[in-house]
Amino acid sequence: MRSQFILALDQGTTSSRAIVFDHQARALGVGQHEFRQYFPSPGLVEHDLEEIWQSQCAAMQDAVSQAEVSAQQITAIGITNQRETIAIWDKKSGQPLFHALVWQDKRTTSLMQELADQAELIHAKSGLLPDPYFSASKLKWLLDNVDQARALADQGRLAAGTIDTWLIYKLTGGEQITDIGNASRTLLFNIHTLKWDEDLMQLFDIPSGILPQVVPSAGQHARTAKTLLGASIPIAGIAGDQHAALFGQNCVQPGMVKNTYGTGCFMLMNTGTAPIKSKHNLLTTIVWQLPDAKPVYALEGSIFVGGSAIQWLRDGLGLIKEADAINQLAADDNGGVYFVPALVGLGAPHWDPKARGLLIGITRGTQASHLARAVLESIAFQTVELAQAMQQDCGFTFEAMRADGGATASARLMQIQADLLGVPVQVPQVRETTALGCAYLAGLAAGVWDSQDQIAKHWQLAHSYEPTQEPDEREGLLKQWRAAVERSKDWAS
Ligand code: ADP
Repeated sequence: MRSQFILALDQGTTSSRAIVFDHQARALGVGQHEFRQYFPSPGLVEHDLEEIWQSQCAAMQDAVSQAEVSAQQITAIGITNQRETIAIWDKKSGQPLFHALVWQDKRTTSLMQELADQAELIHAKSGLLPDPYFSASKLKWLLDNVDQARALADQGRLAAGTIDTWLIYKLTGGEQITDIGNASRTLLFNIHTLKWDEDLMQLFDIPSGILPQVVPSAGQHARTAKTLLGASIPIAGIAGDQHAALFGQNCVQPGMVKNTYGTGCFMLMNTGTAPIKSKHNLLTTIVWQLPDAKPVYALEGSIFVGGSAIQWLRDGLGLIKEADAINQLAADDNGGVYFVPALVGLGAPHWDPKARGLLIGITRGTQASHLARAVLESIAFQTVELAQAMQQDCGFTFEAMRADGGATASARLMQIQADLLGVPVQVPQVRETTALGCAYLAGLAAGVWDSQDQIAKHWQLAHSYEPTQEPDEREGLLKQWRAAVERSKDWAS
């Protein structure tokens, strides 16, 4: 088979990356450029859209030159992006009107609190919760606070969109599209009618005509401007980062689950073509849509403090010098010590912004090694809570969990996770699951691969961590953990 190449653009929260993959899903060239984070005041997080674009271009050039391919040899481009971050720009001049407001930005917390009584409506239509994390309230803030924004909207000149939309606008020289998965993270998209929702747009006072056209996640919807790379390349795959990771982990059958262990953890379960409404405060989201197919849904839970609990042990307490040192320090059991890492409140399934970190069970015999163990266990316990919520919502149990992200480097964490979950935890050989996921989507649409079955063959297991703990022991630990979580709640004033 003739070599075919796919360029994956992985636009993350702190850096823009690009990877050139060949048709066997091997990474041939990688580029990565960081860009500035703007924190105008506590709780506010912004990105400069031009800096995002420039860093993405630089990453793209580096990846292509390292892979030693020409633009003409690239069959398709896939884009994956930080989700929920929202931007506005002038369609005519292409100029951003303000920095992008990043998913972490909390400036619309009180606005969302005022909409607490609309939670049922919001959840029923968008699958999400009234939280400033999503795009809708931030877009309202931009429209209400940026000079000219509403005036330009009245003239039909205002474009709004998530970062995929911004990159595609720049790559194509003017197209304004987004994929259905990114749209479903805005809180303005109805995940049942598959359209921007007029009630939700009204709730946030969003004028019609500023939002992008919604397209499937795989399909030849746009082409890059020829002047940019020297060839007009189809943009054939678009997916938010966690959605791309689920696809890159090949979790394409209902019931398949992946957890990404990064700063926080993001756990998604494919629930097939039917949305499942959670009774445990999990999010229901569209993850992708393939050409001529129904959209695929997932249940999602996020853990705010995952790997960053290890960073706290390093930077906050100075107990370890580098993250990896936790693996040598951690004892074989927790010695009765439990750590609830509610350092910024608790995410799913608790959603308690007032919860705070808690260390309990300390005695005269407690050592640093027990604390280290308790920190590793805390990441795994939080994951078990999400897994149990998902299984209760869906009514079935899963047989294994796929894992990726930086903290999967910790074999001890992965073993603790398998023990506490009671099912194998599988780490794949290629851990670049996010970039790979959008490359797969693009490659499917562009004919590099004929089917998902063909793609599935590229998923290779690096290590499967098998559970070894007795169910009684596991239950005992979980019971203590749950009791500790309850004590951490509703603490901050
Ligand atoms: P993000 O994409 O959120 O920036 P990464 O996927 O790069 O995060 O993962 C970084 C996290 O992984 C850090 O919080 C760090 O504590 C953890 N980590 C990295 N290496 C190890 C290791 N060897 N053992 C335990 N944790 C690790």
